Amino acid sequence: MTALSSYIGGSWEAGPTTLQDLNPARPSDVVAEVRAADARLAGDAVSAGREAFPAWRDLPAPARGEFLRRAPDLLEQRAADVGRDLAREEGKTLAEGVGETRRAAAILRYYAGQTLEPDGETYPSASPSTFLYARREPVGVVLAITPWNFPIAIPAWKLAPALAYGNCVVWKPAELVPLTSVHLVRALADAGLPPGVLNVVLGRSADVGEALLAGPVDALTFTGSNEVGRRLQLQAVERGTKVQLELGGKNPAVVLADADLDLAAEQVARSAFLSAGQKCTATSRVIVERAALEPLAERLVERARGWRLGDPLDPETKVGPLASAAQLERVTGFLTVARQDGGEALAGGEPASIDGGYYVRPTVFAGLGPDSSVVRDEIFGPVAALLPVDSYEAAVALANDTQYGLSAAVFTRDLGLALRFAKEVRAGVVKVNQETAGLELQVPFGGTKASSSGSREQGKAAREFFTEWKTVYVDPPQG
Ligand code: ADP
Repeated sequence: MTALSSYIGGSWEAGPTTLQDLNPARPSDVVAEVRAADARLAGDAVSAGREAFPAWRDLPAPARGEFLRRAPDLLEQRAADVGRDLAREEGKTLAEGVGETRRAAAILRYYAGQTLEPDGETYPSASPSTFLYARREPVGVVLAITPWNFPIAIPAWKLAPALAYGNCVVWKPAELVPLTSVHLVRALADAGLPPGVLNVVLGRSADVGEALLAGPVDALTFTGSNEVGRRLQLQAVERGTKVQLELGGKNPAVVLADADLDLAAEQVARSAFLSAGQKCTATSRVIVERAALEPLAERLVERARGWRLGDPLDPETKVGPLASAAQLERVTGFLTVARQDGGEALAGGEPASIDGGYYVRPTVFAGLGPDSSVVRDEIFGPVAALLPVDSYEAAVALANDTQYGLSAAVFTRDLGLALRFAKEVRAGVVKVNQETAGLELQVPFGGTKASSSGSREQGKAAREFFTEWKTVYVDPPQG
């Protein structure tokens, strides 16, 4: 049995509590054990980051980039193992696990490249003798708190820019995915990252959360639920800590009557059902012009029923289990509410009994009104609601009738309407004839309204959060 520990100041530190890391496809399968950290170790992690910071900050950026260039080569070499462990502890399919590991490697490489990019600007000064410039400097020690649903890609898109731009990191991964987290740490440690530059605290948030934020850390980047994110944001603001939040979504896919319905159904099914719908960019509201309702529903139902549900490690599997018993309870709760609210399950609508795992069948609901919590709240399961409308205008109004604003898609052959939708929908990411999920790493990512707070992640946009300007006025010495 693998026993996993926190990584603090360059060494693996076992904590006092033992937690089990279970396979959600077969909960009797214990993937690993965690010697979970307590508040003392969490404090040690922040201290290690503080101690390492001055030297890391002062290392020339291209030299920092070398570590971020070596680590992805190691991850690539290990992708089959890392992807399998990811699938085993999180429940997404093997292909998705390996693909996500490769994505993490690509993100590290991208930010290695950023260490060779300009880090400031010169300005004309009002004074003839003054050389005036502004440059980006690291913020300091960054606390990264990450969820379980993309256990290596999301950490990579926080850790890589944080490190590239000269920050030290204390990372608290989600409790469900310690083994994948350790794989990422090992790749960076094996690439020679100096001790203390990256510290990882494996532990229950109830045990370590408070100590991490009190650290003190200079910045908090968080991806997870709105409830936890808002609470941490309040604590961060009280302490004067810079904060960036990536929270939930309730993403609409608008299918207009002229759309290619085979394409629309395939894309909607992918974003609603793959990874068992556990993506903040998943489609959960399918807003359809009435003329297209029946043929779209038919195509969507065909996929929901036909896509193979089962063990993520089986190459035939398309949809795996939910990530935990708590997730199963949450999602089945929504299925019950859907029925109470008059929803009719055209496909799925119930858990599936496979090996004792946490499975829910891909589900398509019809007949739900706009006020049902199934239509309003983030479910984080393979559940899509069909919502018919009579016009483009009604479709946009419904798409925007949500507290969230992460991703939105429109399916149409009318490019004029598509561009109008891109302008009128309130979302951080808009897709035309593509699923709401699926991101490229070189462009900004984040949402509007309750979906995000602070500046965007990914691409060059990440620099905004992980650095701050220093403006320098230089006059030559007199005489
Ligand atoms: P998810 O549903 O994705 O698990 P959560 O918001 O519950 O969303 O968790 C996201 C991350 O926040 C996880 O790493 C979790 O352990 C962490 N977390 C939850 N509560 C706290 C807390 N009070 N302090 C610090 N981290 C926390």
